[in-house]
Amino acid sequence: MALTGLEIYKSLPKTNCKQCGLPTCLAFAMKVAAGQAGLDQCPPLDPKARAALEEASAPPQQLVKIGAGERAIELGQETSLYRHEGKFQHPTAIAICVNDSLASTAIEERGRQIASLKFERLGATLKVDMAAVFNVSGQPRGFVEAARAASRASRKALALVSANVESLRAAGEALREERPLLWLMDAAAAGAKAFDMAKELGLPICLQAPGFDALVASSEAARAAGLKEFMLAPGPMKAKAALEFLSQSRRAAIVKKFRPMGYPIAMLATGGDSAQTLVEACWYVLKYAALVVVDTTRPEEILGILTSRQDIYTDPQKPALVDSTLHTVGNPGTDAPVLVTTNFALSYYSVESEVEASRVPSFILPVDTEGQSVLTAWAADKFNGKIIAKALKESGVESRVGHRKVVIPGYVAVISASLNEESGWEVLVGPKEASGLVPYLKSQWKP
Ligand code: SF4
Repeated sequence: MALTGLEIYKSLPKTNCKQCGLPTCLAFAMKVAAGQAGLDQCPPLDPKARAALEEASAPPQQLVKIGAGERAIELGQETSLYRHEGKFQHPTAIAICVNDSLASTAIEERGRQIASLKFERLGATLKVDMAAVFNVSGQPRGFVEAARAASRASRKALALVSANVESLRAAGEALREERPLLWLMDAAAAGAKAFDMAKELGLPICLQAPGFDALVASSEAARAAGLKEFMLAPGPMKAKAALEFLSQSRRAAIVKKFRPMGYPIAMLATGGDSAQTLVEACWYVLKYAALVVVDTTRPEEILGILTSRQDIYTDPQKPALVDSTLHTVGNPGTDAPVLVTTNFALSYYSVESEVEASRVPSFILPVDTEGQSVLTAWAADKFNGKIIAKALKESGVESRVGHRKVVIPGYVAVISASLNEESGWEVLVGPKEASGLVPYLKSQWKP
């Protein structure tokens, strides 16, 4: 939570020595509060006061960076409990298990499956983020080899998961350049040895301990040891207990500013059958988990999880929009249909996917309604005959087709006459729902 200028001023030397380049300490405090100056610009500031100010002004949840280059991801630094209060900042990373006791060919195959999991939805590419390599063998050597193979084949950031500090150290050293997350499965048993390892390697670490109280103890020990960039994981839990834990830990971090829980949470959704895994993973995504590990590569299950993530990590104050220019599906000729809808992404992509399914090359014109759906925009007078006629004119579609017929959504049939009058185009009333477009385009459309 940001401090006010006056709160910062109270901890400054108050000598007005001007070494910071400002005439007074109060002016400097105001600059710091506005994010226009840093505390390091005040040389006389007592180190303890600086540390206390930095701690007090830090975000309620730590940012954790995993991976390098194109594989890099950022987790945490969330500031909202509820999505309507503010956008969730860093989408949950989805990781898929890789077992280090498998044969190298099986590990490579698993990695390739992870790499292939990509989906297009609402104009975005949805992908899995990480491979989570589990040290099932308990041996450092096999762990290192498996981590290398998983990295090579998946081309993803890695989580290296083990109860053995030596295994983690070996794999962390071997793949240090890739900035893997070191996930320690028994943080209490490893203690200071694990903290020293993470500091020496300069890598983020995930401390696993069974439940809220044990995690608080691990977090406090890590903080006392000087660790800054770490995550917390409660380990295997029943779904109900896991949801209670996630709510409790988020509330502790964001609302109560309880620093020991101000770290991103990693969850395992690996215990049940595939349906149970899918449901639990979606719940964890929706209820604040920063990282969720699943043990499936089935596209239909991964798509469900990624869809939940896409839905919750949009900005609720900004509707998802598409470009309000003329779009094409296939290679439409001069006799292709011209369909209008709104520039609300969900409306547009619903229409686009059905037009694609019909295999009838078409033009689609998403009229600028500031991201409102068809009926909402019509009710707000943003999707009327005059506006659509203007959009048709400005889109250039008149020079692309030889006819003058436009298909409008069935829900706004009432605007047919005014659109005809404003544009001179013949207005055809299409189906009410996008799902009716396939039969409509195949059997009813005629240029
Ligand atoms: S350098 Fe520090 S003590 Fe000096 S005027 Fe600036 S804020 Fe005040």
